[in-house]
Amino acid sequence: MSQILIIYTGGTIGMMSDPATKVLKPINFEQIMDNVPELEKLNCKIKVHSFEEIIDSSNMNPAIWSQLAGLIEANYETVDGFVILHGSDTMAFTASALSFMLENLAKPVIFTGSQLPISAIRTDAKENLMTAIEIANAKKNDKARVPEVAIYFDYKLFRGNRSFKYNSSKFEAFRSPNYPILAESGVHLRFSVNDIRQPGNEPLIVHKNLMGDVAVLKLYPGISPKVVETILSSDVRGIIMETFGAGNTSTDAWFIDMLKNAVDSGKVILDISQCKVGTVELGRYETSKLLKDIGIANGYDMTYEAAVTKMMHLLGQIKDPQEVKQYLETDLRGELTIS
Ligand code: ASP
Repeated sequence: MSQILIIYTGGTIGMMSDPATKVLKPINFEQIMDNVPELEKLNCKIKVHSFEEIIDSSNMNPAIWSQLAGLIEANYETVDGFVILHGSDTMAFTASALSFMLENLAKPVIFTGSQLPISAIRTDAKENLMTAIEIANAKKNDKARVPEVAIYFDYKLFRGNRSFKYNSSKFEAFRSPNYPILAESGVHLRFSVNDIRQPGNEPLIVHKNLMGDVAVLKLYPGISPKVVETILSSDVRGIIMETFGAGNTSTDAWFIDMLKNAVDSGKVILDISQCKVGTVELGRYETSKLLKDIGIANGYDMTYEAAVTKMMHLLGQIKDPQEVKQYLETDLRGELTIS
């Protein structure tokens, strides 16, 4: 019988309303199990690892991502797949981070959670949990059907590093507009075979080192030299710059000079778009040609979540800014499409 490891980190799925204060607070995994007797009927063995401190995912951080990666590494040979129960607020960040940390992954790592606690009558948690387990356990010709880090939510499976939380009140909490869904659940569970990454034969390599300190420069019309300088001069090696449209920025000389000085001083600046759909095309407009010339990295169609965690991952491994830039612009785990 195959074996699935459920890793419980927290999130609404395992919360209960405190009768006195009406505030949602985490409960332990045994209480979750009590709400899902169906778990007994699965055709796989379930092992559970519950984090000592159960958290709302707004308290997630890179140190916990390293622990998660370590847990996956420690159990990789003995289980067939992983289901990670996680709050939806930062699920796309954790899934993106894990996708970079787990090189040559050949087993499913499926994140899920819910918008309503598992004990609520109208909960979305049971379907999310049961189908996530089914996906983690799905095999064809003895090979995992989804050897990827993915998010299962509201009947859809998304590539983790392509998704983001777009709705805080609908059950349909996630989207991945720049990449097709990997599977859809209805009467049948249908896998989009051609969109799922297939691993080679290399062994799993786990990169636990992340450089947590990165900065974000989100542009808006009229942003002043004082604000830009404050961010560019902060003591970080990597900056995510959220730009307009297809990667465009102001062409004001002071702005370009400040970016150039930052790049020349060894900082890596990554251009991603504020648009959720479409891609950065450095050099398409005059307003992005200068960025290319001064050495800004092209983020193509990466999500904000993938950009931040990829920067943390690369800065944690590599010293040379040129090399970091080169990897940022390379498709490492299916997180970007080079147009
Ligand atoms: N605040 C919760 C969390 O991210 C929301 C959720 O679980 O959906 O932990």
